Amino acid sequence: MASIPQDFIELVRSSTDIVNVISGYVPLKASGKSFKGLCPFHNEKTPSFHVNPERQIFHCFGCNEGGDAFKFLMLYDKLSFVESIEQLAGRAGLQVPRRSGPAQKEDKERSVLLRIQDEAAKFFQERLHHSPEGARAIAYLRKRDFTDETIRDYGIGFAPDQWSSLLDYLSKKGVRAELIERAGLAIPRKSGQGHYDRFRNRVMIPIASEMGRTIAFGGRILGDGEPKYLNSPESPIYNKSSVLYGFHRAKDAIRKTGTAILMEGYMDCLQAYQAGVKNTVASCGTSLTSGHARLLKRYTDKIVVNFDPDDAGMRAARRSIDLLLEEGFDVGVLTLPDGLDPDNFIRAHGREHYEKLVSEATSFIAFLIQEASKRYDVGTPRGKAALLDDVLPVIGKIPNRVERMGYVGPLAEYAGITDGAVLDELRRHVETKAPRFKLPAVEATPVKLAERELIRWILSSPEDSAILDEIEEEDLEGLVTAPIVRAMKEEKITGTLSTDRLLDRLEPDALKNQLTRIMTEPSPLGPRQSSRDCLNGLRRERWQRELSRLRGQQAQGADDDNLTAEILSLARRIETLGRVETRA
Ligand SMILES: [Zn+2]
Repeated sequence: MASIPQDFIELVRSSTDIVNVISGYVPLKASGKSFKGLCPFHNEKTPSFHVNPERQIFHCFGCNEGGDAFKFLMLYDKLSFVESIEQLAGRAGLQVPRRSGPAQKEDKERSVLLRIQDEAAKFFQERLHHSPEGARAIAYLRKRDFTDETIRDYGIGFAPDQWSSLLDYLSKKGVRAELIERAGLAIPRKSGQGHYDRFRNRVMIPIASEMGRTIAFGGRILGDGEPKYLNSPESPIYNKSSVLYGFHRAKDAIRKTGTAILMEGYMDCLQAYQAGVKNTVASCGTSLTSGHARLLKRYTDKIVVNFDPDDAGMRAARRSIDLLLEEGFDVGVLTLPDGLDPDNFIRAHGREHYEKLVSEATSFIAFLIQEASKRYDVGTPRGKAALLDDVLPVIGKIPNRVERMGYVGPLAEYAGITDGAVLDELRRHVETKAPRFKLPAVEATPVKLAERELIRWILSSPEDSAILDEIEEEDLEGLVTAPIVRAMKEEKITGTLSTDRLLDRLEPDALKNQLTRIMTEPSPLGPRQSSRDCLNGLRRERWQRELSRLRGQQAQGADDDNLTAEILSLARRIETLGRVETRA
């Protein structure tokens, strides 16, 4: 699994507190010895997500996800196992030992591409501040009311109006043109010979990853020229559908305010940041994707869409609303007065006025009705029908039925028809679609109480691990947790039995989740019951299975004295076992 040494993984683990890590993402409340919160992996209103500091694991009883701090980051931040170790090692101030293997080449390319972006950013900034052309760019930025601090703090730069200034600069540093192309900063000439700079005569805005590393650029042309905005293409380090401009700066503010403001462009965002409105992000010249939505979902459920009031902006707003509703967001729409975009509005009216309007943003439904009523005359039956056809498919996307129904009344009132008529139409729209939301998978075979408690006993008290030697393969027949018990037996032999170690080695994830569930669930057994009772419970089931097999043979006519003796002996053994409830 990892080319990182196991003892280093253990070191990172012991230097990490899972409560500390998770509470950076999910608000947690103390509940007895553990912590509870709303699960980030499924939609819920009452907390079923538990974090256990003693065992350093989490488990959600709603969707059955569970694991250790590494697993949490893998799920939450979509990291690989190795990346999760690196991240937690970084938090703990530990240096990851160098490793080798196929992953290394890829990592090496990524780090080279990241270094190229850093160098390019440095170059663009230097050109902005120390060249005659740069002075023109600064004048332009000042005209747009950007302060020197903003220009510096947000790493804004300038790409000269030349074909190879960045290429020349980077090749002097020993970077090959192919890599500069790979980083999205150069384009190969059509002749097949050589490259030229992608960005020329543009104000350059660095686009950062969630961790704040520069991974791409957005370039605004200086003066007239096409295209007005040009962005880096996708690259091994830049995936457009999962990067939002400003996200790394905005995420804390989004969490604090409980709202994310979605804008169209980075210039809008920059203006908002400068004014102190920090909870804003922009999709960089692409339509909003579900990847973007999921990114935001980790921090908030509420989004205010504030796009430019022109036709293109309104169409983009409409598409974003569709997607955000589908992803379960509470969506508000802000249309600024006098046809202003966020950039112009904030410059003209300031932060307070802007934030007031954000707090009063209309519900998406009012926005949709408004937009539709520009196109249809709702005074006529045909207009009413067109309005419903326009708005209902959007409402149909809201996953929560109760919430969906909440929009029936306002829509009926506006269109001047009965609630019933709207409802009928809505049903038609919702039911013609395939179900969009899957329920979390539930295991088909339940874990029996005895197996569950047995595993818990053994992992909780080391002296109970001796019982593992007594567990036979036949005891595990038909048990959901059989692979866990087998792994425990092996770990006991090598002397490395622990919950952590098991979570590392168990495959697939469903088994890990099974284990975290077992270790998180409260035990229904009294203190007088023990691992011995649990094993007895399993054994009774095993012998009963054998007994019915033998009786089956007997019934089929295979009658001899041996069989009868065996049946009697089995029945007696079952009798002598203590009684323990084995059904969960
Ligand atoms: Zn969950």
